Amino acid sequence: MLAIRAARLFDGTRTTKNPIVYVESGTVVGVAHGASPADTEVLDLGDATLLPGLVDAHTHLVFDASDDAVGRLRSVSDDDLLAGARVAAGRALRAGITTVRDLGDRGYVARRLRAELDRSPESGPLVLSAGPPLTSPRGHCWWLGGEVSGEAAIRAAVADHAAHGVDVIKVLATGGEITLGTKPYLPQFTPAELAAAADEAHRHGLPVAAHAHSAGAIAAAVDAGFDTIEHGSFLTEDGAAADDAVIAKLAASRSVVSATLGYLPGRPVAPRTAAISATLTAIFTRQRAAGVRMIVTSDAGIDPSKPHDVLPYAAEMFLLFGDGPEAALRAVTADAAAACGVGATKGRVAAGYDADLLVVTGDPTTDITALREVQAVFRSGVRVR
Ligand SMILES: [Zn+2]
Repeated sequence: MLAIRAARLFDGTRTTKNPIVYVESGTVVGVAHGASPADTEVLDLGDATLLPGLVDAHTHLVFDASDDAVGRLRSVSDDDLLAGARVAAGRALRAGITTVRDLGDRGYVARRLRAELDRSPESGPLVLSAGPPLTSPRGHCWWLGGEVSGEAAIRAAVADHAAHGVDVIKVLATGGEITLGTKPYLPQFTPAELAAAADEAHRHGLPVAAHAHSAGAIAAAVDAGFDTIEHGSFLTEDGAAADDAVIAKLAASRSVVSATLGYLPGRPVAPRTAAISATLTAIFTRQRAAGVRMIVTSDAGIDPSKPHDVLPYAAEMFLLFGDGPEAALRAVTADAAAACGVGATKGRVAAGYDADLLVVTGDPTTDITALREVQAVFRSGVRVR
């Protein structure tokens, strides 16, 4: 039995003082407060805060966060991608990110990595994976291998992904910034095709995630029953603009917006993103004020401003939308775990949950930047930092 004491515990929903967390065989077996029992040796971490390991629900382990992540991906083998994904996963774990959801790889590389890490969890986070994202012919990220069109072919592709053991189905409902010839404000699938993808995913017991930048695609994905709306940025041909009717539809639905935030300071940010960042902040603020459910994710790997441990910076950006630090912490722990379908084992510190723990110096419940002051990380009950 391992007993860990700290000044504070943020358990995924609320904060308490002077906790002792008991861990046995990779699982949290109890949480107590107050004096230590005389017969148990306690690891005392001092003026620190214990939290659930962070959950990054939107990453790409096969992108290397270089300034030509796509070009490199297209020039190397799947085995090389797996080697890079291993490094990326290790970097995430050292920052306290103990669960990642990979929303687009090639050749089911992230699924292969998960199989490796399930045998040695101390080497990386739990890797949930989507496999190659479904896209239209020559659509966004077509070079990942997920081109498909028509409802029957989409259902067959979802079934094939399920047979490969994926944890989520990812559909590219609009084009994206990083694929020549596609536009983030244009749809790639019809509403009927989106509905077929969501229905088939749910038939296989899988959550379904829509990459959706435009108001039209966001609305279609909500109508189709998508569990998460990735980006949710309301991009238009010449910038971005909130659509209050679509925001009201989002707020009334059970779909969760996965806001891909976070940039490492001092690295170049994509020019288009920089130009509209104030507009995007206003759009996400409007969504929060309307009651849209939102989690904080990173899109890690796609460029140098987004290394695979950037998530704490994303949590900081969430404060720009009007919420306090505890809401930001929920958005990278309990709420993110629930959105990924692993809310029964990840994202909380409570009896019965996996002992994936982050310990930071200071108090992130009042100063979110403390999330970067990593003091210890436990994965499956094993201290890895
Ligand atoms: Zn992405």
